[in-house]
Amino acid sequence: MEALATILFVVAGIAFIVGLRMLGHPETARRGNLVSASGMGCAVLGTLVTILEARRGLADTVSDAASSGDSNALLYVAVGLLVGAAIGIPAARLVKMTAMPEMVALFNGFGGAASLLVGWGTLQRAMSEHAAQATVDADAALPKSLSEVLGTLGHGDGHFIGATIFLAILIGGVTFTGSLIAFGKLSGFITTRPVLYTGQNFVNGLMLLVVLGVGAMLTLSPETGWVLPACIGLAFVLGVAAVIPIGGGDMPVVISLLNSYSGLAACAAGFATGNTLLIIVGALVGASGIILTRIMCLAMNRSLSNVLFSGFGAVTSQEAGKPGEKREARSLSPQEAYYVLEAASSVVIVPGYGMAVAQAQHVVKELGDLLEANGAEVRFAIHPVAGRMPGHMNVLLAEANVPYEQLADLDGVNPSMDAVDVALVIGANDVVNPDAKNNETSPLYGMPIVEVDRARNVFILKRSMRSGFAGVENPLFFLENATMIFGDAKATIESLGSEFKSG
Ligand code: NAP
Repeated sequence: MEALATILFVVAGIAFIVGLRMLGHPETARRGNLVSASGMGCAVLGTLVTILEARRGLADTVSDAASSGDSNALLYVAVGLLVGAAIGIPAARLVKMTAMPEMVALFNGFGGAASLLVGWGTLQRAMSEHAAQATVDADAALPKSLSEVLGTLGHGDGHFIGATIFLAILIGGVTFTGSLIAFGKLSGFITTRPVLYTGQNFVNGLMLLVVLGVGAMLTLSPETGWVLPACIGLAFVLGVAAVIPIGGGDMPVVISLLNSYSGLAACAAGFATGNTLLIIVGALVGASGIILTRIMCLAMNRSLSNVLFSGFGAVTSQEAGKPGEKREARSLSPQEAYYVLEAASSVVIVPGYGMAVAQAQHVVKELGDLLEANGAEVRFAIHPVAGRMPGHMNVLLAEANVPYEQLADLDGVNPSMDAVDVALVIGANDVVNPDAKNNETSPLYGMPIVEVDRARNVFILKRSMRSGFAGVENPLFFLENATMIFGDAKATIESLGSEFKSG
């Protein structure tokens, strides 16, 4: 039985690593998800086998208090599976593609809460063991201390296990409330503007110091009554305080970071319970979350500390985007723009956040097909931070069945941009802003962009001259080769499509 559980855990660990690798490419991502999910199935089975095994050898190894807890363990797992499936299956089926970041925020939050509960439960279990031993060994000269009992539960030094319990509770609690705030900001329940006050970073720093002090207490003297509730309460407050000063637009980065935290919390819970698989999985989630966070920061040309502490987005778009001089942008109707597109032999489509807002991905795919049927070479240029979450454009275009071969990253599309007849910018703004290359004073300076300004013609589909997420003006709109096509992206693309069909 024990060997079976070990095999299941090893298979689960391998499946998580292979699945994660497969998630790195659109073509293998779906299968990667399945492989990882099968790994999770093996992990659950392995846990059930371990519980059965523990129950068999229960009578002669553990006390009554612990044994009654363990004999209910199968029931707890069954109830957990049923409740989780009853919530998870409909939620995954019903969630809109644009609400994915909110969903991921909630998943992270519950992951953090689970680790907190594991940490808390481990301490609670040690306390019952300790109390039971004190009764049994009342006459013994030296009953075990709580730290020593913790050591036997977590298979290590008692103080080390105490420290990992503290970390599981702290990081899990911060992840839980931080993710709830991120969810609230993304779904509009809470203001998306950064909530700032004087001395905020100082207060947060002070709070962190107090938490670390409480952590030292929990590690060295876990039996102190107030230490556990203080630790949980402070972790919850710290999670709120850390996320509330960050603007709604930066929430995808925060969610990715919280995802990493949820992994670290799980890793700590793994050490606390002596569960190797949890340590492996936690480390994988922690590492992949931080790698994704770094990729997003690099693609935005911002440091993580700038995202977390600068209150980016506190200035309104109108204030930041105020033009220094009055400049005129040219505009065309879709009907007029059709003639240029009809003559184009090379077209690059650059989707952005506006395509997601307009839900234009299906009509964009249809227009791509019409252009190809008309003899043009069509490519989709995907900027790593286009939209509002990593892979946002990939997901939308995959939903519309745009073939992977048509997707290109910056390196795939920028070198040949001078030979492109039309760059069709659909609801993208910051990711095509030439100031990122040319203007050292721009907040976007240094961010790699899709260099549509070098194409022979640039059509920019948006509703107005308003700025994008970064709140800065875009000089692209005023270039000689650039033309605005005003209106909702979906309606504009539909009009262009109708022209091709009737033309
Ligand atoms: P963007 O700079 O935010 O611009 C989107 C544009 O879409 C807006 O200027 C808006 O102009 C237009 N728009 C909105 N609704 C539209 C509609 N229905 N039809 C047509 N146009 C519409 O978007 P982006 O170029 O994709 O750049 C993404 C930004 O988000 C970057 O600054 C990036 O750093 C940031 N960000 C991304 C992520 C991520 O993971 N992807 C995470 C955090 C931050 P109008 O209002 O005039 O229509």
